[in-house]
Amino acid sequence: MDAFQLIQSFFSRMRCNFCSHSFTPEDIQLLRQEEGIYIVNVYCTHCDTQNGVAMVGVEASQRDHTFPDPELTDEELMRLAEYDPITEDDVLSAHQFINNLDGDWQRFIPPEMLERCKSPETESQDD
Ligand SMILES: [Zn+2]
Repeated sequence: MDAFQLIQSFFSRMRCNFCSHSFTPEDIQLLRQEEGIYIVNVYCTHCDTQNGVAMVGVEASQRDHTFPDPELTDEELMRLAEYDPITEDDVLSAHQFINNLDGDWQRFIPPEMLERCKSPETESQDD
């Protein structure tokens, strides 16, 4: 399981805002990936409804990490949830955000978030 599959697994625990059907991995499509920032499109294939766009940060130490256990730990869920931007109110702004993406789209990323991706050592792991 790679980092993107981890993200898909994370969203599979969430439900569609419109039909309450659990998302499947196929509902989560990777739009962009750069420097540990994954921008994913969340589209419910059950009711054919766009749920929004999410930006998820994956720490550099985990990007090349494989996850043998498909079950997320509480720690992983918390880390992913920290960046969980999916609310109905966010759909419009996320749509505008995506429309505005260009070559230097990283300027939209909060500096501290970029810093986290570049400095995985700041958070000590139990290894
Ligand atoms: Zn749905």
